[in-house]
Amino acid sequence: MKLRGEHCIGGAWVPSCGETFHGMDPRTGAVLQPAYADATIAEVDRACRAAAAAQPELERLAPQSRAALLRAIGEEILELGDALLERTGAETGLPLARLQSERGRTTWQLEHFAQVIEEGSWVEARIDRALPQRTPLPRPDLRRMLVPVGPVAVFGASNFPYAYSVAGGDTASALAAGCAVVVKAHPAHPGTCELVARAIHAAVARLGLPGGVFSLVHGRAHGVGAALVQHPAVAAVGFTGSYQGGRALFDLAARRPHPIPVYAEMGSVNPVFVLPAAAMARGAALAEKLAASALLGTGQFCTSPGVMVLPEGEAGRALARDLARRMAAADQGTMVHCSLAQAHARRLADVRAVEGVEVLAEAAAPGSAAGAGAVVLGCSLSTWLASESVRHEIFGPATVVLHCASAADYEAVARSLDGQLTATVHAEPDDEATASRLLALLASRAGRLVWNGVPTGVEVTHAMVHGGPWPASSDPRTTSVGSAALTRWVRPVAWQDVPQALLPDELRDGNPRGIWRLVEGRLSRD
Ligand code: NAP
Repeated sequence: MKLRGEHCIGGAWVPSCGETFHGMDPRTGAVLQPAYADATIAEVDRACRAAAAAQPELERLAPQSRAALLRAIGEEILELGDALLERTGAETGLPLARLQSERGRTTWQLEHFAQVIEEGSWVEARIDRALPQRTPLPRPDLRRMLVPVGPVAVFGASNFPYAYSVAGGDTASALAAGCAVVVKAHPAHPGTCELVARAIHAAVARLGLPGGVFSLVHGRAHGVGAALVQHPAVAAVGFTGSYQGGRALFDLAARRPHPIPVYAEMGSVNPVFVLPAAAMARGAALAEKLAASALLGTGQFCTSPGVMVLPEGEAGRALARDLARRMAAADQGTMVHCSLAQAHARRLADVRAVEGVEVLAEAAAPGSAAGAGAVVLGCSLSTWLASESVRHEIFGPATVVLHCASAADYEAVARSLDGQLTATVHAEPDDEATASRLLALLASRAGRLVWNGVPTGVEVTHAMVHGGPWPASSDPRTTSVGSAALTRWVRPVAWQDVPQALLPDELRDGNPRGIWRLVEGRLSRD
């Protein structure tokens, strides 16, 4: 499929004109054709109006038809074949095997949401029947369920060009919930965004749905995203990316005349606590596992372990040396775009400049344009506790190592943490007392607790939590991965004394959809 450098606005492909930019191969620095241009304010406006116009039809659509749309999108993405993988490889430098598996995860995500909305119980129907004889006042009939909030604006991240981009978790969950979507394309992979948008456009057309169900606007200037977040038709925002970007869009949304929710998934340090008996029992295996996790995707995972909290003593020191040696000796990689590599270098320089921070190992960057070599930094507990800079995410192939002499030290590190996507504990039975206190502390700070494993790798399931307290995400009550991600795009409505014929199927007597409902406080499918 030929790339044209176009926006997709309300079902129509629109040539972009104005200030242009190009994708770039982060391995070679080669400029990739075609040119893309920032959407104008008028184009953003048209996309949002089209979404608002399509919204009622999407809401009326039977869940089976919305599921069919999600499945059709997955099929159309696969239909793009190698052309998609090749373009994304050129725009991000990510290897083919990684792109194939991320594409598989993205199409599975669409299927997962399709299954959830077909089953139907996710709407959380609750029914409290009228009590006409109640005294002193009769109780009305009350029935509540979740309904779509309205059009959703989606911003994807550069490091997951499929799973957190145009047809990623935010778009899939919003469409599944019954919300029209306007995506702001990531300027680091505009060709990938255009191809995936063409797949969604084809699926929308195949199902005969209004074009406004999905739009894509390109933009490198922040004004494009700002206009989208401020548009009166937009009811909620899904963002995956940097803390700075998430915070800026969150603040813009809060300053609107009618503020709207922003579900921003941002950075995380993902601490890994290795307790003394674990370091003693399996130090070498841990060094291998943790080094591989920290270097996965050249450290460009939001769940990459950014601090390793190890015990004092020979086992902990040996583990630190082994980890540093392995990270420095590993194949070094390329970041997904040059500005990310530059941001990584700047951030690393800031942390290295902190008094008390030392370099335990450092690999030379490969010769590619956006190459970054692994760096292992070390610091004392007191430096860690004193320096806010050391405690923040260094996005890329870097990790910080520190040592703890007592259970109280481990707990002090846990208490020093901001909100996290994940926190990992490695322990053996002899570590149990410390582990149990640590887990309790970490549960108040992280969205996912990992036991004797690695934080990288986020399963798409019903029980997954991919989120966490600020700054891991802007709303700790939700997740951006797994079926619970749907609940970001809905709000509850209660129907009081509304006649049966006017109720949604989910709330009618007889339960025509056969879903699980809370009837008079008891779960039932009757
Ligand atoms: P990014 O630079 O924040 O970009 C994300 C998107 O937001 C882009 O479209 C970007 O456009 C836009 N944007 C950023 N700042 C903006 C602003 N002030 N106003 C309007 N639009 C703005 O993020 P990234 O570099 O692609 O991704 C790397 C970061 O994402 C890392 O910190 C990583 O930890 C995080 N991440 C988190 C998760 C998660 O699930 N929590 C997953 C993946 C990645 P421009 O490029 O034009 O600025």
